[in-house]
Amino acid sequence: MKLAGNILTADGWINGHLTIKDGLIAGINRISGEIVTGAPCLIPGFIDLHVHGGGGYDIMQGGEAARVLARTHARFGSTSVLATTMTAPPAAIDAAFAAVAAVRRNPPADGADILGIHLEGPFINPEKLGAQPAYAIRADKEFINRLNAAVPIRIITIAPEFAENLALIPWLGRQNIRVQIGHTLADYEQCCCALQAGAKSFTHLYNAMSPLSHRAAGAVGAALAHARYCEIIPDLVHVGKGAMRAAMRAIPRLYGITDGTAACGMPDGQYRLGENDIYKQGNAVRLADGTLAGSVLTLDKALKNFIRLGDSLAQASHRLSAYQADYLGLQDRGRLEIGLRADLNIIDTHYNIIDTYIAGRRVGRDKD
Ligand SMILES: [Zn+2]
Repeated sequence: MKLAGNILTADGWINGHLTIKDGLIAGINRISGEIVTGAPCLIPGFIDLHVHGGGGYDIMQGGEAARVLARTHARFGSTSVLATTMTAPPAAIDAAFAAVAAVRRNPPADGADILGIHLEGPFINPEKLGAQPAYAIRADKEFINRLNAAVPIRIITIAPEFAENLALIPWLGRQNIRVQIGHTLADYEQCCCALQAGAKSFTHLYNAMSPLSHRAAGAVGAALAHARYCEIIPDLVHVGKGAMRAAMRAIPRLYGITDGTAACGMPDGQYRLGENDIYKQGNAVRLADGTLAGSVLTLDKALKNFIRLGDSLAQASHRLSAYQADYLGLQDRGRLEIGLRADLNIIDTHYNIIDTYIAGRRVGRDKD
């Protein structure tokens, strides 16, 4: 199969053809080194490293939730995802892992590839739960080992101000689990200790963490000063434009995540997030008390929002694909290069997604 257009390669834009064979990119042939105005653009498929649900289902519900999530977010350009669990009693987290494992054994043909799990809590600060239910505990090697054997944990979000959590960071790194600082009241110095111990990123920068003030830089200040990688929710609801721009300038590889809930891709109404009811209205989803509870963001909108904030299309694309692949050490995706998985999005001149391919297979999409 041959796709024509402006192609974002590792060396920048070219105009030409991209050939797909056996699920991989078999060729990239240049017609011209110049972009052709009005032609569709081919960019890598999006990689969402923090997503709880979509299409009405939440990962903590178990069952087919991971399948529905993978299919729902594929319609919006995500070609790889990390199913993300919530703080909950250990048995509930075990059950969620078992359900994701079952879906991974029989994955949907038209869904994003489920790379593994982002374990968001339960090793977080009970005073900084955000929308996480109140089951925070301290890090527990045995529990993590058990979960990791069921489905690979690729990312873990912890609050490093607790000695047990901080102490486990080097061990987590050796298990090839990326440690992120989040749902935390750690001060700047405590975050620096966690970074020195091997923490690599921050979870939804600005949200559910100690803020930056001029004499107490907090987790936000540690991220802006030291992080190479950092996640952010670019829905322009969780973080305002000014704070978005500050992070985009300060952090070399700031990347977008959805933190998406069951309400993604769904009409306004009531949904579940972990054990809580949440209410979607327009671009936001909240607990009954008004606390933001994850998002309704999809990464096609994230692309447009980064561009609105000043990114070029190439830069915005990197924030949704290449940086995530590099962060997790994924060699087989995240870029348009010969030999990599044919995971890509074709977009029009208004940055709308026209088509998505996952391992060379075209994803059906609603045209509304
Ligand atoms: Zn989350």
